[in-house]
Amino acid sequence: MATNGTLPSKQKAAQFQPKDQTVHINEVPIPSIKPDELLVKVRSASLCHSDLMLFEPNDQGLVLGTGDPFTMGHEGCGTIVEVGSEAQGFKKGDNVGWLPIVDCCFECEACQVHNLYCETGQAKVQGMTVDGYFQQYCAVKWRNAAIMPDGMDLDTAAPLFCAGCTSFNAVEATKAELNRDPKETYVAVIGCGGLGHLGIQYLKAHGFKVVGIDLSPEALEEAKTQGADYVFNPKTDTNYVDEVRKLTGKGCHAAINYTNSVPAYSNAPDIIRYNGVLMVTGIPQKSIPFSAMDLSMLRLRVRGANNGRTDQLRDCLAFSHKHGIKPHVTQYKLDDFQQMLDTMHAGQHKGRMGVLFD
Ligand SMILES: [Zn+2]
Ligand SMILES: [Zn+2]
Repeated sequence: MATNGTLPSKQKAAQFQPKDQTVHINEVPIPSIKPDELLVKVRSASLCHSDLMLFEPNDQGLVLGTGDPFTMGHEGCGTIVEVGSEAQGFKKGDNVGWLPIVDCCFECEACQVHNLYCETGQAKVQGMTVDGYFQQYCAVKWRNAAIMPDGMDLDTAAPLFCAGCTSFNAVEATKAELNRDPKETYVAVIGCGGLGHLGIQYLKAHGFKVVGIDLSPEALEEAKTQGADYVFNPKTDTNYVDEVRKLTGKGCHAAINYTNSVPAYSNAPDIIRYNGVLMVTGIPQKSIPFSAMDLSMLRLRVRGANNGRTDQLRDCLAFSHKHGIKPHVTQYKLDDFQQMLDTMHAGQHKGRMGVLFD
């Protein structure tokens, strides 16, 4: 452990082994940072549903590590312990959270859409192909980092840096697309887990009426706790489409799908009114089919949202702090990483699960 400001030379990390798709707690060196990086002492890191993509085949073009083990995790926050010579606007002791795309140029036209598209073709996701944040010290690109508002709780804030900013961007995009009084507007949240439980909080902060939809009773319980006005479980409420249409008049004005389920996408239009918005947020392993007729005839407006850019992350942090948006996090020790992973695989969790470091 570090004492008197000196860093230890080794640390423990939860590492993915691409060869056999297993996770091991390994002892690894503390990263040495490049001039454009910050060294951060991680306080908390959380598990995102997309981390499970490591263990599943996908046809969405995500290139996962093929060689050496790497540290998992792409949601984290902590305190800066070292600042690279090129980093601007940060100092030791700042509490920060950050986005996970590295080895992009941050400048090209494609980077302005999403850093993963960088024209250099070199962009990588920390925790997906290169070392992420389930370790006590990690390297972060200063251009990805955002200083956390004073008083924001480091122990529970980690999910804001993927689930939070993604669900926030989806809500902001939905609000902009609808451009109408939230108090008269129904938005369905499909998937009330890691992203959805935050999406509901963002929607309620704006004053929208929220219909939570999930197949898991635990997630629906969480949705109610976070302020959803109505909740439905399509598995047990077999009449839910009629019920949603009845209570909303002609269907919801928008539905945000936070799940990675193809059926969730195919069924969503049933509860959306004419010219309503379907916000594509969760990414299934397979492509999702849309009817050209529905799009052409304005039955449906299909839009998308993702974790976004650093300027959007700053907006998300400011909004979250102002409105008291709080991720619900169940804390684990790093040594219990496998147990946390198994719980997510089984879908038995509420909100987010994460590791709290000393
Ligand atoms: Zn994520
Ligand atoms: Zn670029």
